[in-house]
Amino acid sequence: MSLSTMTPSPIPFPAGRSPKQKTVCQEWCAFVELYRLAAESFRDAADALPCSPGPEFNQAWTRAERTRKSLDEARTALLRHEYTHDCTSRTAS
Ligand SMILES: [Zn+2]
Repeated sequence: MSLSTMTPSPIPFPAGRSPKQKTVCQEWCAFVELYRLAAESFRDAADALPCSPGPEFNQAWTRAERTRKSLDEARTALLRHEYTHDCTSRTAS
């Protein structure tokens, strides 16, 4: 048992941001972009909801629900990628 057998770690990896530019996963970026677009669509659809019940509302509601589902799918896809690809090293919270 000797300390001399210990080899120093090459470069300690900081817990936070590395000064060295890490390559961003292009796939992950694409998922973020999809999520952003889906969120915009949902916002637009929600904005279009009229404040009175009727067929116009129902039509707008159907559209809003559709975009909400797309947003949910985009979110799931993004999270699934982060989980399976492990390219963002983000701490789950
Ligand atoms: Zn990735």
